[in-house]
Amino acid sequence: MTQTVTGTTVRTTCPYCGVGCGVLANATADGTVAITGDPAHPANRGRLCSKGTALGETLDLDGRLLHPEIAGKRVSWDEATRAVADTFSRTIAEHGPDAVAFYVSGQILTEDYAIANKLMKGFIGTANIDTNSRLCMASSVAGHTRAFGTDTVPGCYEDLEEADLVVLVGSNTAWCHPVLFQRLMAARDARANLAIVVIDPRRTATATFADLHLPLAPGSDVALFNGLLAHLHDAGALDQDYIAAHTEGFEAALEQAHETGLEGACALTGLDAPALRRFYDLFARTERVVTVYSQGVNQSTSGSDKVNAILNCHLATGRIGRPGMGPFSVTGQPNAMGGREVGGLANQLACHMELENPAHRAIVQSVWRAPVIADKPGLKAVDMFRAVADGRIRAIWIMGTNPVDSLPEADLVRRALEACPFVVVSDVMHDTDTTQVADVLLPAAGWGEKDGTVTNSARQISRQRAFLAPAGEARPDWRIIRDVAHAMGFEEAFDYAGPADIFREHARLSTEKNDGTRDFDIGACADITNDAYATLEPFQWPRPAGRSDGAPTRFFAQGGFYTPRRRARFIATPPKQSASTPNDAFPLVLNTGRIRDHWHTMTRTAKSPRLSRHIAEPFIEIHPKDAEYFDIRPASLVRVANRYGAAVVRALVSNAARPGAVFVPFHWAGQWAANARINALVTGHTDPVSGQPETKSAAVSIRPFEAA
Ligand code: SF4
Repeated sequence: MTQTVTGTTVRTTCPYCGVGCGVLANATADGTVAITGDPAHPANRGRLCSKGTALGETLDLDGRLLHPEIAGKRVSWDEATRAVADTFSRTIAEHGPDAVAFYVSGQILTEDYAIANKLMKGFIGTANIDTNSRLCMASSVAGHTRAFGTDTVPGCYEDLEEADLVVLVGSNTAWCHPVLFQRLMAARDARANLAIVVIDPRRTATATFADLHLPLAPGSDVALFNGLLAHLHDAGALDQDYIAAHTEGFEAALEQAHETGLEGACALTGLDAPALRRFYDLFARTERVVTVYSQGVNQSTSGSDKVNAILNCHLATGRIGRPGMGPFSVTGQPNAMGGREVGGLANQLACHMELENPAHRAIVQSVWRAPVIADKPGLKAVDMFRAVADGRIRAIWIMGTNPVDSLPEADLVRRALEACPFVVVSDVMHDTDTTQVADVLLPAAGWGEKDGTVTNSARQISRQRAFLAPAGEARPDWRIIRDVAHAMGFEEAFDYAGPADIFREHARLSTEKNDGTRDFDIGACADITNDAYATLEPFQWPRPAGRSDGAPTRFFAQGGFYTPRRRARFIATPPKQSASTPNDAFPLVLNTGRIRDHWHTMTRTAKSPRLSRHIAEPFIEIHPKDAEYFDIRPASLVRVANRYGAAVVRALVSNAARPGAVFVPFHWAGQWAANARINALVTGHTDPVSGQPETKSAAVSIRPFEAA
């Protein structure tokens, strides 16, 4: 049974992927909630995927964390809040601000993110706040910032429908961003000349719809796009005027591209020259090209270079920021983009301002009314938990995420948290592997119980709205953080009565950066009334003061980048090997990712029987040749292992796998299948620029599982 419902239809936003679909939640008299797509939402126009459609089946109270707890015992909110505030304050006093950390989530709302970021960077005085979005899109942030000067997504969803060629790189869009894929399929049905190329080691569901699938060797994307840039040059397909007027660094990038060339691209990707030439020629002769990329690009020790190798090709052809043209990073989580806007990563300040820039720090400090401001980057996700492990961090607050299952080196993360002097977890669920190691548990309001905003992959800001009473004593994250801030003595600057107050401050801050580099500007909302916030329609940023139309916005067709010289920067991208390569002991490359009908560690989707029916248990996708070589029978149990850990999963022998590579979904965490925690096998190697871990490549061995 769901908790008390309000009895009205509420317009809100789906809490799963970065497409950010609008949802109509109709709370009915019998206590159930009917879910349909919002026909008026610009992201989905009424469509929903299987996960969105099943949202109403996930709202029961089973497993919910209903009351604050300290050491497993129920306590009042006052006691819990005081314990968190006092222990953080004492730790800071005894060990300094860098001894504490927040690890937050792309699941929380922009207002939650903003206030957590403010408390840590402006009042505690360290940038030790990072997010599970680090695992999702940090390489895109780094790539954008290197090339454009800011983390700006140039295009919009409409571009996929207006393109003549859509290239999907490292993106199983059909399963991971299904409604965007539905839009693409509808566009192809309407226009026969829309070609789709999929670049992915696996023959994914998406690849089966492609006109051309390039099953490249894992991690070789840089070589493929270097080869493309060299080909575009040789074919005379460059936009020399755009390069001359709006960019810098082209010669070095081109030299590197030629160094790779077609020969290098073939050698490193394992693809044959005719297949690569077919793609290169198609790209060269098609003006309207969109290149969509996702975790297969980002989750790599060369993720930032992969992003820049893609951006280089679009900059070199001037195909950016015009209808049907541009590079397009799609985010995994519902509010990864909102987190980027509020500076939710350890190396950012709010509103795309820079920690290292004294003028930016002064602006943020002033608007926040903060006594201090962090002046150096904090610890990124993997390093943050290593710092917990070695005792540099002595108090950590984890909000809305389950790092014991979802981070690389998952066993190390568990041991680190078990040994950490003080662990706070605010979550909607009682029994995740992370709540099990918490000293203090704080019940957070879930989807449908709280108000705020999220931003999707196309820079569209939408409201999430409450339509259920909070479960038990659950409270919205912004309020939990505000109350801890008050208890730490920061009452005046955290005098928020509701999320609208936080949103107004965030919007005001977005107008303050006045050095000509302002991309994220939602100044039109700086004085938004509570009523207007309540009825806020989805809109795309930028929306500076005075702009109210809803037409899609694009960046950079006429240059105007946010670098000091206002020119885009080409980045030379030498191909590099993955940090974890196969060897005699661990001869296969492990790739991890999502399936269609589950989300993260399944705390919500496992509640829906129809979602669980799609794929019922954890599996390892393996090529028939590898299965034969390693004596693996279809549907048998397989032990997959390396020196970090081991897991037992079901064999799915399939030609969809690339020989030499295996795929295991990461959803089945400890509470569902204790021996299938695949992130225990993922290494902590990270991209040196973005800090994003390489969750797409770990060397592993496999053998038939024999029960003890
Ligand atoms: Fe939700 Fe993404 Fe599905 Fe849309 S595509 S309904 S945002 S999971």
